[in-house]
Amino acid sequence: MRGRGPYKSRRELAAMREPGRITALALQAVESAVRAGVTTLELDRIAERVIREHGAVPNFQLEPGYEHTLCVNVNDVVVHGIPGDRVLEPGDLVTVDCGATIGGFHGDAAISVVVPGGDPERTAARERLSDVTRGALWAGIAALAGARQLGEVGAAVEDHIDANSDFRIDEDYIGHGIGTRMHENPPVFNYRTRVVGPAVKPGLCVAIEPIIHAGGAETTVDGDGWTVRSADGSDACQWEHSVAVHSGGIWVLTALDGGAAALAPLGVVPVPIPER
Ligand code: MG
Ligand code: MG
Repeated sequence: MRGRGPYKSRRELAAMREPGRITALALQAVESAVRAGVTTLELDRIAERVIREHGAVPNFQLEPGYEHTLCVNVNDVVVHGIPGDRVLEPGDLVTVDCGATIGGFHGDAAISVVVPGGDPERTAARERLSDVTRGALWAGIAALAGARQLGEVGAAVEDHIDANSDFRIDEDYIGHGIGTRMHENPPVFNYRTRVVGPAVKPGLCVAIEPIIHAGGAETTVDGDGWTVRSADGSDACQWEHSVAVHSGGIWVLTALDGGAAALAPLGVVPVPIPER
């Protein structure tokens, strides 16, 4: 029997909706809790509570050696920031990465928030880094809606960054397929490659997750073996959504409106995934 490759059935696509929705609800709760004086561990507890209240499981806790619901990446931390007693300060750039699993399927998404206050110039620079990164994510999602091959997503992300900034794209961390595991094939690049990638057609579910650096893209790993930082101490930022391609169009699984508001200015109208 021939494999279906990365393409999910209609039933599987329908099952992808709930883990995505719960991931979105957890991040919505975290976003409204981000303020000066809160610890990153408090944010983790909020996300875990929302996920478990909905009968789902924080899928980061299923990763060997990791016991938290979130990764919380503050300022120069690029990825895999472990929640703990770090107290958020005015002007901090906080990327929160979260996922949930229910019914055997996974959701995965990340948002960034700048804590109000702090040095006005530094805060404005961080808001701009977040805005450009978020814009690159949505440019990639919009490209997926009209793409023939998955590689067009990375080209759109790269073009958005280059057209709007002199920021650098992190090439060490890329997006992925998502389904019965959080990380599946195919890889989803955030830049042009010679890999055209699989055909974009109904059943494809991917997590698109550009990581953008204000300074150099070189990184180092802390002694804890997890926390990845910019080698030059400059800020890094990430936004992520899980997105499904189905027979009616695309649907952003980890956006409560399917991506409608953010995609409207880009001329794309997301279409809900049928019940079955
Ligand atoms: Mg991911
Ligand atoms: Mg993620």
